Amino acid sequence: MECIFCSIASKKMKSTVVHETERFIVISDISPQAPNHLLVLPKEHFETVLECKDRDLLGEMLEVAAAAAKKIGVAERGFRIIINTNDEGGQTVFHLHLHLLAGRPLHGKMG
Ligand code: 5GP
Ligand code: ZN
Repeated sequence: MECIFCSIASKKMKSTVVHETERFIVISDISPQAPNHLLVLPKEHFETVLECKDRDLLGEMLEVAAAAAKKIGVAERGFRIIINTNDEGGQTVFHLHLHLLAGRPLHGKMG
């Protein structure tokens, strides 16, 4: 079975697309943990951040997240970016992605 985020990136599977660039798609998380919860997915498949050696892509992933934060109007108020990695990092979908959380105070502990 194909990776779910590859299916979402290729639009074989439905999602709410908030922003898109040549190499990335930004979607709403299906189970939001904050009023705004976006996922920034590279269209290319990498299992985790450990497999990705493409510095341009990693840098662009942060730029795309910042652009998405501006687009949804949370940039000034603030937001949090998270990349869960492997088991103890809480990763459940093994296709590299960044979480952008916003819309409420995120002053709690990291974990
Ligand atoms: P992880 O736990 O791997 O860091 O994050 C995976 C995220 O993907 C979770 O927050 C989960 O809610 C979200 N997710 C899982 N399946 C789907 C899906 O089919 N569509 C969308 N939009 N999000 C999903
Ligand atoms: Zn994938």
